Amino acid sequence: MTASLDVLVVGAGPTGLALAAQLRAHQSRFRIVDRSHDRVRESRALAVQPRTLEALAGFGVTDRLVARGNPAMGLRLHLNRRTVSVPLFDIEPADTPYPFLLFLSQAETESVLGEHLAARGVPIERGTELVRLEQQGRQVSCRLRRRDGVEETVAARYVVGCDGAHSTVRAQAGIDFEGYAYPQTFLLADLDVAGLEPGAAHSYMTGAGMLFFFPLGSPAPWRMLAMRPSDAPLGEVTLPLLREIAVRYGARGLELRDPVWTTDFRLHNRGAVRYRSGSCFLAGDAAHIHSPAGGQGMNIGIQDALNLGWKIALVCRGAAPEELLETYGIERAPVGRGVRRFTDRAFVIGTSPHPALRLARARLAPHVAPLAVRATPLRRRVFRAVSELGIHYRRSPASTPGTRPPRRGPRAGDRLPDLPHGLQARIAAPGWHLLLAGPPHLWPDQRLAPLLTGRAGLITVHRLGDRSPWPDVAQGLVRPDGHLGYVARGAQLEGLRAYLARWLPMGPA
Ligand SMILES: Cc1cc2nc3c(=O)[nH]c(=O)nc-3n(C[C@H](O)[C@H](O)[C@H](O)COP(=O)(O)OP(=O)(O)OC[C@H]3O[C@@H](n4cnc5c(N)ncnc54)[C@H](O)[C@@H]3O)c2cc1C
Repeated sequence: MTASLDVLVVGAGPTGLALAAQLRAHQSRFRIVDRSHDRVRESRALAVQPRTLEALAGFGVTDRLVARGNPAMGLRLHLNRRTVSVPLFDIEPADTPYPFLLFLSQAETESVLGEHLAARGVPIERGTELVRLEQQGRQVSCRLRRRDGVEETVAARYVVGCDGAHSTVRAQAGIDFEGYAYPQTFLLADLDVAGLEPGAAHSYMTGAGMLFFFPLGSPAPWRMLAMRPSDAPLGEVTLPLLREIAVRYGARGLELRDPVWTTDFRLHNRGAVRYRSGSCFLAGDAAHIHSPAGGQGMNIGIQDALNLGWKIALVCRGAAPEELLETYGIERAPVGRGVRRFTDRAFVIGTSPHPALRLARARLAPHVAPLAVRATPLRRRVFRAVSELGIHYRRSPASTPGTRPPRRGPRAGDRLPDLPHGLQARIAAPGWHLLLAGPPHLWPDQRLAPLLTGRAGLITVHRLGDRSPWPDVAQGLVRPDGHLGYVARGAQLEGLRAYLARWLPMGPA
């Protein structure tokens, strides 16, 4: 059987939708299937991080997400009758066009991505389940079952499992999912709350545990998230129970009302031992699940997708070597592990019944938190981690510093910051972008022509003059996911030529 598809995307959650958007932008031949009959209508993930907003901007969807969401600039820590204000995005705000955490329900995020695909004629094949796959040489034979029971076999060169925590692709590809479940149960409710200051997230911390309210907007003004107390009865999550928990966790004087969605769930911390097996890849929850501390889950799933899609598209077009696909796991697995570690620590500190941690939450936190808020280096580290702006691929084989790196500014593997302001908008179009800093006469067309021959439509050249992120004459080659693959000081082009020969060798376009 010859592969009729470049890629079969399994799962149309946020990860699969983002992957489809990128494959479409890079003119890949793909299908996207999802076994559910409808998209998610529940709020689920509610925080869109600055890096995700940046990464989706190239598709033109970010403005629509921002228009529908609720930007929150601050967190209020309610600690035993004391409230500490934590500004979230007052550090390095010029670094990104989106210096805020966007609260938006997952249903809305999926709706915006779905509309984007629909406008480009990409059908999402709902009610279509991947039931089996078999790797056959350089392709995968996939058995799909539609809701009417009709089955179909398709051959795809690559399959990407964006099919969530219980991934069929992962199981069929024989990739282990290692980790553990947390013993606690959590309650979640989308509801209205009178008495809460709008425009900020609120956290109540006591010895007993933690309670959060996040500004949501739709389908209800607030999201409440709390640990179920060990003595609270298991069963339906009712309004009286939510009210009792709010009081018990220190949120007094609030009126909770009109819940539109409640649920309870257990959390896991698990990761795929590999992100790839042969022609099968994993992305999003299929590759990693963890606590929602810090609002990372959906975001790193979308970013997994945007790391992988262009690589597969270029390899299938014959424009990039198969070796490029190896960099997906090399770059993204450490991100998944880092988020699992970070969310685990936050989770244990916030919920552990250990007497020392209970005491720390109840007695120490009210004194330590105000000092921690004033400690700018600490907040900067937390901000970089939570916003995901600090994610880099400096150790990837696809990140190459020139022999003379610039004295300052972003390095090979870093995301391109939005400094000077508007730089990210210049590289929004799909493809690679060559940034040339310094006097434009250093970069005449005839010097660049040998680099661009045979790579028509793959690389866009930008002569930045002195409006550049580097202080010197420099060259930076930005990958289609907004990360710098190559950065060098000076006007010599040998290093860039070698980089292109390795990762974008001239071949059939
Ligand atoms: C109750 C709840 C609350 C949450 N709260 C938060 C939060 O506050 N913050 C946060 O960051 N995250 C939260 N999450 C997690 C967040 O929803 C996930 O991280 C996110 O949905 C992952 O996206 P994904 O596309 O990787 O997977 P999913 O959204 O799980 O999508 C997977 C898709 O694959 C489809 N599928 C599965 N198997 C097959 C198959 N064999 N064939 C075809 N299709 C298949 C499914 O139908 C589904 O549509 C929450 C999740 C839940 C359930």
